[in-house]
Amino acid sequence: MTKWIYTFGGGKAEGNAGMKNLLGGKGANLAEMSGLGLDVPPGFTITTEVCNYASSHDGVYPDGLSEEFGRAMGRVEAIIGAKFGDPENPLLVSVRSGARASMPGMMDTVLNLGLNDKTVEGLARASGDKRFAYDSYRRFIQMYGDVVLGVDHHLFEDLLEDHKQGKGYSLDTDLDGDAMQGLVGAYKALVEEELGRSFPEDPEEQLWGAIGAVFSSWNNRRAVTYRMLHGIPGDWGTAVNVQAMVFGNMGEDCATGVCFTRNPSTGKNAFYGEYLTNAQGEDVVAGIRTPHPLSKAEKAANRSDLDSLEETMPGLYAELLGVRDALERHYLDMQDMEFTIQQGRLWLLQTRTGKRTAKAALKMAVDMCVEGLIGKSEALMRVDPASLDQLLHPTLDPKAPRMILAKGLPASPGAASGRAVFSSADAEAWAESGEKVVLVRAETSPEDIGGMHVAEGILTTRGGMTSHAAVVARGMGTPCVSGAGSITVDVDAKTMRAFDKTVREGDVITLDGSTGEVMQGEVPMIRPELSGDFGALMVWADETRTLSVRANAETPADAETARKFGAEGIGLCRTEHMFFDPERIIHMREMIVAENEAQRRAALDKLLPYQRQDFEELFTIMEGNPVTIRLLDPPLHEFLPHDEAGLEKVAEAAGADLKGVRQRAAALHETNPMLGHRGCRLGITYPEIYEMQARAIFQAACAVSQKGLRVEPEIMIPLIADKREFDVLKAVVDATACRVAEETGVSVDYALGTMIELPRAALRAGEIAESAEFFSFGTNDLTQTTYGLSRDDAGDFIQIYHDKGVFETNPFATFDVLGVGELVRIAVERGRATRPGMKLGICGEHGGDPASIHFFREVGLDYVSCSPYRVPIARLAAAQAALGGESETND
Ligand code: PEP
Ligand code: MG
Repeated sequence: MTKWIYTFGGGKAEGNAGMKNLLGGKGANLAEMSGLGLDVPPGFTITTEVCNYASSHDGVYPDGLSEEFGRAMGRVEAIIGAKFGDPENPLLVSVRSGARASMPGMMDTVLNLGLNDKTVEGLARASGDKRFAYDSYRRFIQMYGDVVLGVDHHLFEDLLEDHKQGKGYSLDTDLDGDAMQGLVGAYKALVEEELGRSFPEDPEEQLWGAIGAVFSSWNNRRAVTYRMLHGIPGDWGTAVNVQAMVFGNMGEDCATGVCFTRNPSTGKNAFYGEYLTNAQGEDVVAGIRTPHPLSKAEKAANRSDLDSLEETMPGLYAELLGVRDALERHYLDMQDMEFTIQQGRLWLLQTRTGKRTAKAALKMAVDMCVEGLIGKSEALMRVDPASLDQLLHPTLDPKAPRMILAKGLPASPGAASGRAVFSSADAEAWAESGEKVVLVRAETSPEDIGGMHVAEGILTTRGGMTSHAAVVARGMGTPCVSGAGSITVDVDAKTMRAFDKTVREGDVITLDGSTGEVMQGEVPMIRPELSGDFGALMVWADETRTLSVRANAETPADAETARKFGAEGIGLCRTEHMFFDPERIIHMREMIVAENEAQRRAALDKLLPYQRQDFEELFTIMEGNPVTIRLLDPPLHEFLPHDEAGLEKVAEAAGADLKGVRQRAAALHETNPMLGHRGCRLGITYPEIYEMQARAIFQAACAVSQKGLRVEPEIMIPLIADKREFDVLKAVVDATACRVAEETGVSVDYALGTMIELPRAALRAGEIAESAEFFSFGTNDLTQTTYGLSRDDAGDFIQIYHDKGVFETNPFATFDVLGVGELVRIAVERGRATRPGMKLGICGEHGGDPASIHFFREVGLDYVSCSPYRVPIARLAAAQAALGGESETND
């Protein structure tokens, strides 16, 4: 028989952490914590199977559920020593969702359930605090009214404001027991008015209502959007956790807080968190009161003058520190915990693997490995390669002048500039039209998720480091400043005021999520240096990976960056990029409009010294690592000016007649240039171009090797479809090598290979490998030609393909393993069958995509080559590929 309910608490549990699919993350962890002997309020988890059963049976629950429910409830009552619905000594419970993956703020929760007009009196007597009892009751009515009955929570908040104003109070805590009782009456009247029926008094009815609402919240709009954004399947379902309530708001000896075993923003190995005395859990994250720091160290670091828990309740702080150590030793990862102190007793409400910034993930992985908690392989798997991008991203230039508008909390690191917008919808609209935006809100809620997703940065005027804005922004890797209290936002006027400055919608502001500063206008940014933890992780990655990582680079600056990031050579030097310099382009154009070979050679002679110089620099920077130089690839019209004035200049420089130049430019026009006169086809028709390039490469190689440096040139021919094309060009290159060797008296070793970027080349790879010494997969063109999808024009409709579920990912960004991958596999097999052990690499954009790198390793390539800033990402992804897994993405 299926078991539908699992109990926990009282030092025992029926479940454990391994049962996330059935119990949800929260339920599994509550069970695991109880099993560890920690003080967890007792309760039980109704499984995800019940959610799925109910959604496929019109909301009807499975047989046997209610018997199990009765037994589980009885157990909770026995442990707590109170009875659900008992007017004298009532047990109150919380009802919360808990899916397999954490979905912060996406699902619904009801607290203080079990209160009614009778039990509230019992609670008042038991606690000796009428105000507390009625405050709990009115919170319950509000939450239940909102989540279960669908009464807008703003209506309750308006009533609360009316009550406070009526009595001339500004804080909720100013309202006494009688005032709270009055508010309860008003709340109940509101429910009756809105729904035409009274608020349910029967605790059993309340409980089943809440359970039903949590189950159906799995399919509410917010949850569905979150699942879409994070790729969570709808059929996972959610579990429901019913748990005895403990109270952090029963007086000054009570508190509630959120803490992380290490700092989730910096990764520092220091206990980190926030708490409030005399408060309920939601108060800490809701941003209504400013939370206090947990420790004295944190208080000092934040220059806060609020009392820390270490000062106000030293004994309980020490106990909490013990729990922190026990949890980290048990879970071997940073935990995000929630706790409540009820009348001097510490209760643990939750623990889960904490979300962290990329910077923190890196530091924790390295620290935990050094501390001996985890091994190197595990440390490597703990960091999401794509997230390293955040660390490689700019920070504000410390020397740049800045006009500071306000300072808030450094909630999610990194710097961002963009146009200020004041609603999620406006953020989406501006972003849609291509603008960068910073979303400014008093505080964010799950409804803002769409706007937060498109924003470069997020600024809130209320809320702490664990506010919704802070948690979600850190998860997304978006810079965020929270709680900038000196700013006032006028949502209707779409403005914000900071001191005497007004920022209107569309004005540019800059945030520094690492310091909390908010600045007017755009502040220049700089690229970060990478060392320390980053360097350590990279060393481990290099020890682990089997794939080499090279860079696509043609300028000395890019080549140096690539080396600094650990590139083991250049996998693609696109020589055409070297011709766009104003001094050079003119000779290039002369060459293009030349009327005969002699004229073309004359122009090429002028380009030769430039190319030679470029290659000398690249060989020198690469210090003996391979440098793969691709001969000219793009169609020639790309180099010509598009206007008449430009053509006149070309004519003048070439000493040619303008009419002839115009005709030549017109003749170069092609309907399908990407399938036209480009790549090796240029080399076949104008061998002197490739000859000049080969001469420049060999002369440079000779010059550098004569200085005593090692050089390893690899010459690569683009867009080969047939072995005969390759052979014609091989003859040109080899002959040039011989000539340069004769002229200089120095001969250098070189390899001559081809790109595989056309399906025919992949299919005929066996034959091509008879002549080509290496292959480099040009997966940009190979994707374009396999799909018949223009890489330059497809952007517009790929999004629609994605929305309609035709494409899961953009095949130009994430490699298509099934289709294009099959061609790669064929080429690898056929190429190596002809030339065993031949060197194989990839230099298309996919070379820097972590998800694609797993395939390239599996298919047997020797290296990936990507843009310099992706080199560290590729090194880590290659290590993870070697370890046979993909990283945790922290969801
Ligand atoms: C490719 O086609 O994948 C490639 C690397 O060449 P390019 O992007 O220059 O066409
Ligand atoms: Mg290409």
